[in-house]
Amino acid sequence: VVPSVAMRPLLMIPGPIEISPAVQAAFGGPPTSHVAPDFIERCGRSLERMRAVWAASSDSQPFILAGSGTIAMEMGACNVVGPGDRVLLVNTGFFSDRMATMLRRRGATVDEVTAPVGHAPSLDAVRQALEGGDYRALFATHVDTSTGVRADAEGLARLANERELISVFDGVCATGAERFEMEAWGADVYLTASQKAIGLPAGLALLVMSPRALRAREALAQPPPMALDVQEWTPIMRAYEERRPSYFSTPATNLVSALDVGLGEILETEHRGHEGIEARWSLHAAAADAMRAALSSLGLSLLPEANLAANTLSAVRYPKGVDASLVGAIKAAGVVVAGGLHPACKAEYFRVGHMGHSATQREHLLRTIEALGSALAGCIAGVDGDAAALAAGAVLDGRQ
Ligand code: PMP
Repeated sequence: VVPSVAMRPLLMIPGPIEISPAVQAAFGGPPTSHVAPDFIERCGRSLERMRAVWAASSDSQPFILAGSGTIAMEMGACNVVGPGDRVLLVNTGFFSDRMATMLRRRGATVDEVTAPVGHAPSLDAVRQALEGGDYRALFATHVDTSTGVRADAEGLARLANERELISVFDGVCATGAERFEMEAWGADVYLTASQKAIGLPAGLALLVMSPRALRAREALAQPPPMALDVQEWTPIMRAYEERRPSYFSTPATNLVSALDVGLGEILETEHRGHEGIEARWSLHAAAADAMRAALSSLGLSLLPEANLAANTLSAVRYPKGVDASLVGAIKAAGVVVAGGLHPACKAEYFRVGHMGHSATQREHLLRTIEALGSALAGCIAGVDGDAAALAAGAVLDGRQ
């Protein structure tokens, strides 16, 4: 028996996140054969729905694999870059560092454009760096979960596209929540995992590749590992979309069934006159604004520069005199949030996720603010959690 969210701590870390009852029901269904007609239908429809959520072109290729976000990163990297290639990486934190390590292990030469923690390199700095080298690809993290910094994905994708460079974006903490227009911006690889704004349990690596990215794989002298090779996977994904049985490696069938439902929920979203993925982006912006209104009412400030703060999470500095024990106090008040992650300053801040299902649930957002307010009130005199919840409510109602 699964305890209802009223009976257990609410999971408000930046992934894994709370999932909707319909997604949970699909995930908890009986196992199925990967070639059963109803499974083929769910998988084929999920692939079609991914293109809509990724705002990707009809000739782009979606992939669904059993795996984590790190597997999606590996698949995105090793299919477009080979030993000896030179790439430029826009570094905004912990997960950009991971991508740099991965690319170096693949034998690539990685040049990095960096910025202080909480900031992002300017487009001018990236443009200048691109002029200085003969690059095959540009890599960036859309939202770096370690700092809550959102990169200018549109600007970066367009810069790369103008130069006919492959662009690869790690959207693990962004896809389905932050605006990303794969086709319009000319991006080549956009990857994520199931446990964040897509709204599933962990276990699926999800990515969409442009025709140019698939051609880059064909041109590689040294193929990627077989299990991650898009040349193995493309015929399988096409077969599912054409509703034909096929097999290369067994899919995570229950997760794929949940994916069909989760992507369906994303595309059914309506918000402030918007529909579909546009509505989902708008809803996450409103949830983030509401959380920021509450944080500022509580006297708290963010780690990232204000105009770079992501809509999927808030990285919040501990106020003076408060330390990481606040995370435990918030949990005691019924909500699980995460500590800091960036090695340079992880003791200085904590992180609150507000993406996917919870971004659609006013009660989840307000419960989080109330728990934060009551935990802070135990450390600082005069903290008013009710005022913070009212400030958030006003934003959610569109009154502010
Ligand atoms: N990239 C980003 C931006 C992430 O937030 C994460 C996970 N927090 C990853 C990659 C790695 O994903 P996973 O933990 O599922 O391997």
